[in-house]
Amino acid sequence: MPHLPPPANPAEFNLCLQWGAIPGDEINEKLDFLEANGFSAVEIPSGDWPIKNGEELKKAMTGRKLFIATACGPSDFSYAEPEKREAEVQKFLPIIEALGAIKSVGLILCPARGEVPMGFAELREDFVTHTGKRLAEHAAKHGTSIVLEPLRRHETPFLRQVADGARMAADIGPGATVMGDFWHMGLEETSFMGAFICAGKLLSHVHIAGLKERIIPGVHPEADQYVDGFKGLKMIGYRGAISFEGGWPRDPADPKKSIPQEEKTKLILNMVRLLREQWEMA
Ligand code: MG
Repeated sequence: MPHLPPPANPAEFNLCLQWGAIPGDEINEKLDFLEANGFSAVEIPSGDWPIKNGEELKKAMTGRKLFIATACGPSDFSYAEPEKREAEVQKFLPIIEALGAIKSVGLILCPARGEVPMGFAELREDFVTHTGKRLAEHAAKHGTSIVLEPLRRHETPFLRQVADGARMAADIGPGATVMGDFWHMGLEETSFMGAFICAGKLLSHVHIAGLKERIIPGVHPEADQYVDGFKGLKMIGYRGAISFEGGWPRDPADPKKSIPQEEKTKLILNMVRLLREQWEMA
C-alpha cells in the first residue's frame, strides 16, 4: 500500500444518481427518492437545463441533506475553426452562472470528442490557456468549477487518464478540477487507486458503472469490484459524489427494451448495498 499523509478530513461516501436514472417525474419526487434510499447527491443535465430549472431545483433542495454534484452533457473544444471553439465557450458561460447560483460542484467538460481536428499540443495549449481557462475563471468567480472528464480511447484519443486531466486542471488553475469515471478507467488506467491518488485534491467527481458492462453495478457482481478505487478515494480524503452513469440490463422477454421501472428501482437499491459494503471494506 502507498504511504501517504492521512487526509486532513476523512473521506465521505456520497452516492449520487444522474437525473434520468432517478425514479419519479417531479423534482421533489426524485429528491425524496434519493434522500430515502441512502443517496447524498444529485447529478443534473447540462445544456440549458440548469438555466431553465435551477430556481425550482434550488427551492426543492431547501432543508434537504443532499448536495448538487455536477451537470453532465456533451462538449467539444477541438474544432479547427477558432470561431467554433469560441461559440462553445460562449454557450457554457451562462450555464456556469446558473450552476454557481445553485451551488453545484461543477460542469463536466471533455476538451475533445471523436476525431480531433487540432494537433494535440495545440489543443492542449489552447484549452489550458484560453478556452478551458476562461471557463474555469468564470466558474471560480461564480463559486463553481469545470470538471475535466477523461474518456476511453475510442471516444477521445486526447484525454484518457485521470492523471493527465489533473495535470491540465492544475495548469489551468483556480476553477478547474478533474473527475474519474470507473467505466473509462477500467480500460485506460493500470490502477484505480493510483489514478485517484494522482488526482488528489483536484478530484471533484466520480462516475461509476458496472465494469463488465456499462450498466448499473451489481448485475455482474464478480466483475464489479471497486474496493481498490475506494481505497484511493479514502487516501485522498475524497468527499465528492460517486454517481452512477450507465444503462440498464435488457428485458429478457424483449431484448429491444430495457427492464421495467420497478426492476430498475430494485437494481438501484442493490447497487447502494453493494457499493456501501465495498466502501466499508476499502
Ligand atoms: Mg462519465
